[in-house]
Amino acid sequence: MIDVIVAGGGPTGVMLASELRLHGVHAPVLEKEAEPTRIVRALGLHARSIEVMDQRGLLERFLALGTQYPLGGFFAGIPKPAPERLDTAHPYVLGIPQTTTERLLIEHATQLGVEIRRGCELVGLRQDDHGVTVELADGSELRSRYLVGCDGGRSTVRKLLGVGFPGEPTRREWLLGEVELTAPPETVAAVIAEVYKTHKGFGAVPLGDGVYRLGAPAEGVAEDPTVPPTLDELKQQVRKLAGTDFGAHSPRWLSRFGDATRLAERYRVGRVLLAGDAAHIHPPTGGQGLNLGIQDAFNLGWKLAAEVNGWAPAGLLDSYHSERHPVAADVLNTTRAQTELLSAEPGPQAVRRLVSELMDFEEVNRYLIEKIAAIGIRYDFGEGHDLLGRRLRDVGLKRGRLYGLMHGGRGLLLDQTGRLSVAGWADRVDHVVDVSEELDVPAVLLRPDGHVAWVGEDQQALLSQLPTWFGAPVN
Ligand SMILES: Cc1cc2nc3c(=O)[nH]c(=O)nc-3n(C[C@H](O)[C@H](O)[C@H](O)COP(=O)(O)OP(=O)(O)OC[C@H]3O[C@@H](n4cnc5c(N)ncnc54)[C@H](O)[C@@H]3O)c2cc1C
Repeated sequence: MIDVIVAGGGPTGVMLASELRLHGVHAPVLEKEAEPTRIVRALGLHARSIEVMDQRGLLERFLALGTQYPLGGFFAGIPKPAPERLDTAHPYVLGIPQTTTERLLIEHATQLGVEIRRGCELVGLRQDDHGVTVELADGSELRSRYLVGCDGGRSTVRKLLGVGFPGEPTRREWLLGEVELTAPPETVAAVIAEVYKTHKGFGAVPLGDGVYRLGAPAEGVAEDPTVPPTLDELKQQVRKLAGTDFGAHSPRWLSRFGDATRLAERYRVGRVLLAGDAAHIHPPTGGQGLNLGIQDAFNLGWKLAAEVNGWAPAGLLDSYHSERHPVAADVLNTTRAQTELLSAEPGPQAVRRLVSELMDFEEVNRYLIEKIAAIGIRYDFGEGHDLLGRRLRDVGLKRGRLYGLMHGGRGLLLDQTGRLSVAGWADRVDHVVDVSEELDVPAVLLRPDGHVAWVGEDQQALLSQLPTWFGAPVN
């Protein structure tokens, strides 16, 4: 029997399988496509995802292939500088195409021993008290203890489970493609800047060598959104707004996307869970979908591994839904708001001007940027210290950096007193006695996802918290 089957080899599925593998869990990834896609959707990682990569030792690989951009201007494209002293060691956006992110995540997963089975489509599932039987398109079956649907917005797993996906359907659609333009770069830039003043869903991002990522609103909504537009369709829509199609030719790929916004009612049904786009979809405004999926995987991985390995305390796996569902609901809300602010209608334009003025207040600007960068998230662990439930930023220690000690995905007690002990949990929690000039608390207990589970200095208080997250002690 397989431990966990991960359906879908996008960023969420591959990240999840790696997290499970860190804990020795056998979690093959089933991916229906035979080859990786050439279509580039996401263009970057926000601060929290960069931290996630740092916490797993992947930062250098990502930095080497990405470009760092200022964080300001990401909320609805409103051009304001990011506030100073953001609570992260990575106060920037890392521009990196989704195809590169996926390649790096697959490389990491493969190094950990994750098996990615391409050309392998899940078409059916049934579950009982002991496991899940997965049916594949070739008629064969696999049996596992758990199944996670990371199979994207049109998730087969979610549909087979019958989980509701309430929200709004696609009402507007955009066409997107990577094409070559014959018009000189200065002309393209000038025309785009002029049109962007009134039509924010329009643009041409230069990718080098005359290749651009060209996007424009579609005429209506396609009957089948999986059918890509033709080059002529894209050129026609570009001409409507810009008066020219810039001589677009030789498309690398063409695609369409809409503004459907939906959230799964439940992230877990028995032994089957949902993560990433399978659980939530929204338009790309603010650039959060891929980030959200990676962070779902980061939250779920260690909890599901604990369940498989037999030490999960009661309720740990269900905390995946109770922690991540509200985060996605908030992202959907913020995305809806940003999409409105990008409308060319006079009402939304007036609200945009007002929000822009409000963002001159440092606190408002900080609040919005922290939302986009996902560094303001606080899970509800009850009353307590301000750090409780938040992820801890990377801090310097005498022996190096905190995140450098978290690559194995285990819990961590950072003990500045030297008087505490995690005996009984040493197989799950590392005990680091060190000091940080950036941290003015005696000790913090971090979950494997870097969120603060406890703050204090009293051993009895620590002993009362360890079982909540790490189960019963072993003697
Ligand atoms: C135009 C555009 C721009 C975007 N820009 C950004 C951005 O800047 N920042 C950002 O964070 N996000 C962005 N996004 C969103 C981002 O692309 C998605 O949120 C992200 O890809 C979700 O990852 P995922 O792994 O959950 O799902 P997916 O990437 O959709 O992966 C799902 C995988 O499952 C496979 N699959 C499907 N069904 C089955 C099955 N039955 N059996 C086996 N395999 C199956 C699919 O082939 C696919 O590989 C953008 C999206 C679009 C459309």
